[in-house]
Amino acid sequence: MGILRRSKPKAETSNEAVLPPLELKPTAFDKTAVQAELIGARQLPGYPLAISMLAQALSAGGDRILMDFTAQGVNVRNRIDGIWEALPAMDRASGDATLFIVKKLWGMNPADRRSSQTGKCNVAFQGNDWILECASQGVPTGERVLISVLPKKPIHKTLGDLGMRDKMQEQLKGLLGAHGGLVVISAPAGHGLPTTWRVAIESADKFTRDWVSVEDKKDADPEMINVTQNFFDSKAGETPDIALAKLILKQPDVYVMPNFFSEHVVDSVLSLVKAESKHAVTRIQANDPIDAIIALMSTYRGQAKELLMTINGVLSQRLVRRLCTECRQAYQPSPQLLQKLGVPAGRITQLYQPFTPPPPEQRVDAKGNPIEIPICKKCKGRGYSGRVGIFELLILSNELRSAIAKNAKDPSVIRQYAKKLGHLSFQDEGVLAVATGLTSLQELQRIAQGK
Ligand SMILES: [Zn+2]
Repeated sequence: MGILRRSKPKAETSNEAVLPPLELKPTAFDKTAVQAELIGARQLPGYPLAISMLAQALSAGGDRILMDFTAQGVNVRNRIDGIWEALPAMDRASGDATLFIVKKLWGMNPADRRSSQTGKCNVAFQGNDWILECASQGVPTGERVLISVLPKKPIHKTLGDLGMRDKMQEQLKGLLGAHGGLVVISAPAGHGLPTTWRVAIESADKFTRDWVSVEDKKDADPEMINVTQNFFDSKAGETPDIALAKLILKQPDVYVMPNFFSEHVVDSVLSLVKAESKHAVTRIQANDPIDAIIALMSTYRGQAKELLMTINGVLSQRLVRRLCTECRQAYQPSPQLLQKLGVPAGRITQLYQPFTPPPPEQRVDAKGNPIEIPICKKCKGRGYSGRVGIFELLILSNELRSAIAKNAKDPSVIRQYAKKLGHLSFQDEGVLAVATGLTSLQELQRIAQGK
């Protein structure tokens, strides 16, 4: 193979020289076949197009690439920080050539443009390793192809990296480190629940206590530091009850339950929490802490009352785009704006917003000649770079529990009551994040409206 590589035609070498340094590591072939496949692919017209398309998405921090094939051409979009961005459309021939390379090296059948197919390929780029999963499907207008970008190893983060303020980190660690309670972690779909779940649990002190999980083998979580995973195989007819019964004999301290599976399991875990001062953690998809409690109570109706009595705190998060630290702009909010945001006078003196270029008539020098406003190198003019969590942490008191029990059908009443007790909502926490320059009011509004 080495000989073949050295004797590459000159034209190809110069072609590769201008390509971004993105290395494809196909996993669909054995060791010798990989080299042959890669050498074959490099000769094809779609190769530089595919490499450029992938490198562009990865360098912008994209996590999805969508290609929509129609008779006229191919629309390509990248999802960056949760927002879809359209790229210049490709002509059909270039799109076909690009997809040929992807399907070939991802171990899919390039000739089949109709069936639903999936494939994978590892990619190394800018010092990081990624797994790129491709799914293609013929549609009435042509074909739709989605490439998902996943980091090869979970990127280790702290609660601070996720955007949680220091005081809340301490409160959360306190909740997780308590005895005889249930901590709930929640987020809406697409708002990073798996990451926050892992980071929150890994942030707790696990050296003095035994942490164990009960998980269904078919959708097990990635490994976590100092949590002993225990699996049952639902496909083989096994139930979580047997896995749990075995565990109880070992007397662990904290039960990590990504799912409760059944009322019976809820009952067993809650009994351990109550009678033996064990502790438990679970997660659920929900918009905010109140929603999370109500969702748990309605999923496990028979245990609703016990759940409410046992939950000692709920963490909820939503992801917002992080303002670019290079070009964000501070401004003084008017008293009216602060009042509207519910901020007491004097508490906050400045907020931040994304950079907006001045109107054309102001883009001139002293002599009236037009001046070029340089585009920010870090965010490429987007104003945002990466995402950050806005966290809401609800600590339950008996007062609040009885308000929830009484008003489970009208969560807005519970929210108002929680506010009266001093609880900071998503909106309140968001304004604090805008005051520290993490995000903008526009972004909070977009997420609050579920866009
Ligand atoms: Zn910027």
